[in-house]
Amino acid sequence: MSKLQLSDLAIFGGKAAFDAELHVGRPNVPDRRRLLERMSDILDRKWLTNNGPYVQEFEQRVAEMIGVKHCIAMCNGTAALEVAIKAADLRDEVIVPSFTFVGTVHALQWQQLKPVFCDVDPLSHNIDPARVEQMITPRTTGIMGVHVWGRPCDIPALTKISKKYNLRLLFDAAHAFGCSHRGRMIGNFGDAEAFSFHATKFFNTFEGGAVVTNNEDLAAKIRLMKNFGFAGNDEVIQIGINGKMSEPSAAMGLSGLENLDEFIKVNRINYQQYRNELEGLQGVRLLTFDESEKCNFQYVVFEVDESVTQVSRDEMLRVLWSENVLARRYFYPGCHRMEPYRSLFPNAGLMLPETERVVERVLCLPTGTSIGSHEIRTICDIIRVVLLNGDVVRKRLRDLQQMMDSKDRKKMH
Ligand SMILES: *Cc1c(COP(=O)(O)O)cnc(C)c1O
Repeated sequence: MSKLQLSDLAIFGGKAAFDAELHVGRPNVPDRRRLLERMSDILDRKWLTNNGPYVQEFEQRVAEMIGVKHCIAMCNGTAALEVAIKAADLRDEVIVPSFTFVGTVHALQWQQLKPVFCDVDPLSHNIDPARVEQMITPRTTGIMGVHVWGRPCDIPALTKISKKYNLRLLFDAAHAFGCSHRGRMIGNFGDAEAFSFHATKFFNTFEGGAVVTNNEDLAAKIRLMKNFGFAGNDEVIQIGINGKMSEPSAAMGLSGLENLDEFIKVNRINYQQYRNELEGLQGVRLLTFDESEKCNFQYVVFEVDESVTQVSRDEMLRVLWSENVLARRYFYPGCHRMEPYRSLFPNAGLMLPETERVVERVLCLPTGTSIGSHEIRTICDIIRVVLLNGDVVRKRLRDLQQMMDSKDRKKMH
């Protein structure tokens, strides 16, 4: 047990637990020597982009790792989603969770599709198949599932629904690179799945993404589409965009793949330590991962039930930030409460009771290769002292808030 006292907390006048900020998505950096060797090759070859040798090798390695027929590397995850949506010929209405990164929904709206927000399962945080079926109308053309936190959606149920109603099924797999579902790697499901390799993801290519699919026709279409529709030097056979991954990004990706197992191992150890340290605390829950599956453990997701803990998730957040622990409220306040969706669909929340509750409970804690055992012990000591004194912390935080509010009011006069 730690000897941390309430008065040690920075928010109550103590010294911050960390001098430097701890981030949720601090980039994992691969072996520098291997990366720089590849960068040097690129400069020697002067082949900087346009389906260069590193992009081709990267696509092949990813496809092998996932056991999928086609991998098309892209400039980012959002472009991967947008091109997949267009290539799959989605139109009118697409069913999508509101509990996701806003990029998932923007990728639909950007192409004048109507995102139809569907509620999530409160335990898995993933789109609830029972609710999906209720949202289907004659205008529905597809379902966009999101494997939130890298935990697969209810893929069998969603697949069944998509077959029954003849809908396209796509997955935003931005969180789920390196994860499996019933022994099969994510990337093999639905019509296509999209990954993000953004710097904040546990595996990154600086910026980057990919579409993976076992569908030959879809793959061919996506390949054309991400390169302006060029089929030959002067031959454009369909509409397209510039969605290409560059050679430096592929070099980063190839180097990162060589270190992928280490990144995952660190994430797993971090997750297990959080789980052990937080075990038995009342009113909080750490989301667990099915360890019989492949899993990247990239998010440590913590839920606060204010009715038990007395302190709210936001009060916990304030305490942690004052200690330089930059925990994040992903995906607060839910896409349906962000613009333009909030104005377009002002009543969407009525259909999203679980989403509205989940966004008030969730906190993502720092992990990744820049976080170790010492940091996690300290973070958990802070959380523990807050939870064991929930009523006192709440009262003191609310008094502090009142003081600040009245100071503001005086300033205004
Ligand atoms: C990161 C992320 C994206 C966007 O990927 P980018 O590579 O940043 O464009 C999309 N969806 C989800 C769920 C994400 O987490």
